Amino acid sequence: MSMFSHLEFDNHEKVIFVNDKSSGLKAIIAVHNTNLGPSLGGCRMWPYESDDAALTDVLRLSRGMTYKSAIAGLPLGGGKCVIIGDHRKDKHPELLRALGRAIESLSGAYITAEDSGTSVADMVTISECTQYVSGVMADSEHGGDPSPSTAYGVFVGLKSAVNYKFKRDNLKGLKVAVQGVGNVGFHLCKYLKAEGAELIVTDIFPANVERAVSELGATAVAPDEIYSVEADVFAPCAMGGIINAETLHKLTAKVIAGAANNQLSRPEISQILLANNVLYAPDYVINAGGIIDIAYQRSGEGKEALKCHIELIGSTLTSIFERSDSTGYSTEVVANQIAQERFEKSAD
Ligand code: NAD
Repeated sequence: MSMFSHLEFDNHEKVIFVNDKSSGLKAIIAVHNTNLGPSLGGCRMWPYESDDAALTDVLRLSRGMTYKSAIAGLPLGGGKCVIIGDHRKDKHPELLRALGRAIESLSGAYITAEDSGTSVADMVTISECTQYVSGVMADSEHGGDPSPSTAYGVFVGLKSAVNYKFKRDNLKGLKVAVQGVGNVGFHLCKYLKAEGAELIVTDIFPANVERAVSELGATAVAPDEIYSVEADVFAPCAMGGIINAETLHKLTAKVIAGAANNQLSRPEISQILLANNVLYAPDYVINAGGIIDIAYQRSGEGKEALKCHIELIGSTLTSIFERSDSTGYSTEVVANQIAQERFEKSAD
């Protein structure tokens, strides 16, 4: 396993390998960049097939967090932690406390939060041993769950994309195809419905589809029909990699604006979308409401300030769309450029 020549290594400031014999903890913490502030990023627990797979994940994800926080205008850098193990079998309080001690030893360079395989309750356990944990505020608006804020940010971003593409400032009668009506997707549907949008939804979990149909009057389609259904906007809110060679030519929507992480199967797809006249709201820009919420839970600022910050996602996206139009670079490339300008400039 190489480190400095690793494909995903991108001048990370610190990579810490944690091995706690008594609890069985094996974890890697990566701090990508702290030019804008302490690094913040979730702690993922996953039974990685190899140590290298865990290292690859933590290097890639921590870098992504630097870009996400920078574009969201947060005074934070990018970091991530991965615990190697199965969260259903291997997770126990002593292991989490050992991780807490390791995080504390970094003196604030890395702040953790929940992610796949960890929960708000786990963060509370970790916080017994470190002050550098976010997303544990039981008295926050949603008890620590950032999904409603993510949904609100996607809603604001979707409206700004619709305004840019279709030159209209309301969603009345607009057809929005939502893939995945779980935590974020369902909340998003509620906002869309309130503004008069027509909802077309799908999910592999029938109860979630039923909830959207009965509570919001959505039209349900089968999972593989969501791309080709006639729609103005496609809102992916399930899993990544869904915009790919197979689905690209099926899409009828001229705007893609949704919460899912890593929506494009390959970076080059963003340029193809541009050529196809499809306006793509880069995923890590439009879904930043959650990280903004987590940052505000830590700073203790009020709900109004949080809402105002999330609403900036709309104007950030408009700047990205404008620069993409004037330069011919895809919206994804432009978002990366703006994020880089922010976190590299602050190092001067
Ligand atoms: P969730 O698990 O609550 O909801 C996802 C839904 O998608 C589920 O109902 C699931 O059944 C459905 N689904 C899975 N595979 C599907 C498929 N092939 N076709 C249709 N539906 C499918 O997750 P969530 O918290 O709502 O997050 C949704 C997406 O947004 C994820 O990609 C997540 O990484 C991303 N995201 C979430 C947050 C957050 O705050 N929760 C923040 C940023 C990004």
